[in-house]
Amino acid sequence: MLYSTFGLMNAPSFPIRLVKRGAADSSLAARLRKEIEGEVMFDAASRGRYSTDASIYQVEPLGVVVPRTEEAARIALAIALEAGVPVLPRGAGTSQCGQTVGEALVIDHSKYLNQILEVDAQGSTAAVQPGVVLDALNAVLRPHQLWFPVDVSTSAQATIGGMAGNNSCGSRSIAYGNMVHNVLAIEAVTAAGERWRFGPMGETTGSPAYQDFVKRLKALYDREKDEIEARFPKLLRKVAGYNLDHLGPPHANAAHLLVGSEGTLAYSERLHLKLSPIPPARTLGVCHFRKFYTAMDMTRHIVPLGPSAVELVDRTMIGLARDIPAFRKTVDAVIKGDPDAILLVEFSGEDAAVQLSRLKQLTQLMGDLGLRGNVVEITDAAQQKAVWEVRKAGLNIIMSMKGDGKPVSFTPDTRVREARHARHLVCARLGRHAARPAGARHAARRR
Ligand SMILES: Cc1cc2nc3c(=O)[nH]c(=O)nc-3n(C[C@H](O)[C@H](O)[C@H](O)COP(=O)(O)OP(=O)(O)OC[C@H]3O[C@@H](n4cnc5c(N)ncnc54)[C@H](O)[C@@H]3O)c2cc1C
Repeated sequence: MLYSTFGLMNAPSFPIRLVKRGAADSSLAARLRKEIEGEVMFDAASRGRYSTDASIYQVEPLGVVVPRTEEAARIALAIALEAGVPVLPRGAGTSQCGQTVGEALVIDHSKYLNQILEVDAQGSTAAVQPGVVLDALNAVLRPHQLWFPVDVSTSAQATIGGMAGNNSCGSRSIAYGNMVHNVLAIEAVTAAGERWRFGPMGETTGSPAYQDFVKRLKALYDREKDEIEARFPKLLRKVAGYNLDHLGPPHANAAHLLVGSEGTLAYSERLHLKLSPIPPARTLGVCHFRKFYTAMDMTRHIVPLGPSAVELVDRTMIGLARDIPAFRKTVDAVIKGDPDAILLVEFSGEDAAVQLSRLKQLTQLMGDLGLRGNVVEITDAAQQKAVWEVRKAGLNIIMSMKGDGKPVSFTPDTRVREARHARHLVCARLGRHAARPAGARHAARRR
């Protein structure tokens, strides 16, 4: 499976969609100011600020609420409901497909609703508010030798609420899955203003209204399960649409319906997460390819070795990274010659000797496939970290491109089967517009 974040050159120099609105609704603003504890911003400058996210879209919101408390967020939702105004929850706004821009009342919980409420190191679980930033959570978990393993590139900004909203996937989803595989339960406020703890559908706790809702979900799943089985892609990293396939076994979890729903079903107030042990041993193979196509094609042979990450980096990104002083030393140390693309293949686990032997298997595999000598083996932890830092900065590196032709990131969620990787990316070269893809991609496994 493949996840690609690639930019295309010659982006338009204007936003794709620009919505102009009249004066903001002053009665709504006045009521919010009066009734909620938090910041209420309906002025043009604030609405301008919140009209963008990391996508190419631009839409002015009706207004913005930054609640100081969970209660304030709840009241804001109720007021919006009464006024018939749509609500748009927002974390860090790093979505790339316009998820956090819209003509709605934006509720930004990143400033105040960012507490880690509980860490159960023994049980490997945590409960957090939606505005907790991933890196901040992992800093608290590290002394327990635990981490939340959905390691998105935007880990320094992305919030757990937003990651759940998008069903985010990290570089290591091949080993740990996406958000939907790592969220145990979500306490959320529904559009009708009810507070429910969405969780495993076998649980008999919760209000009668929630139990009735679960009963209806089960009936829906039973009615549609053959259709779901027949039509849902058998891909791990699928994030398009509601996770209806998680309403039945082996998951059967109502919270999984909220994951990936992009804030359209309910407002997540508290998220209960599954944590994983930090693997003490890691090795990294940097596989070099003279042709981009070969790199894409090789992923299907590498995935069966059981790596914890397989990431493709292309010539454009390698070249641009080399031009950035902070990355030059790392690039020069691990890139040999002039490859068209590289694959970063990581192995991780308990035992260092096992990870080393898996790295040797990778080198052997490449040799057997006629690519002898194409793997640079990295066992040093600091050097591995440096390589991953370059990969993590991928989009920023691509954005550093000089000249009139500028990249634009617009298809962050393309998924294709391994067998079609190579053809898919070649088709994506969009020759008619003389545009070409650039950047990095992830390989994952089937579900
Ligand atoms: C350079 C770059 C690299 C990226 N790399 C990755 C990557 O490696 N993997 C990946 O999966 N994604 C990646 N992304 C996309 C994005 O960063 C992630 O999806 C991130 O997890 C979003 O977090 P956020 O806090 O910015 O969410 P936001 O963008 O603020 O929100 C995301 C969605 O969740 C909803 N939402 C937010 N809070 C709540 C709530 N409390 N209740 C209900 N709904 C809510 C929002 O309405 C929105 O629909 C990348 C983006 C960029 C710009």
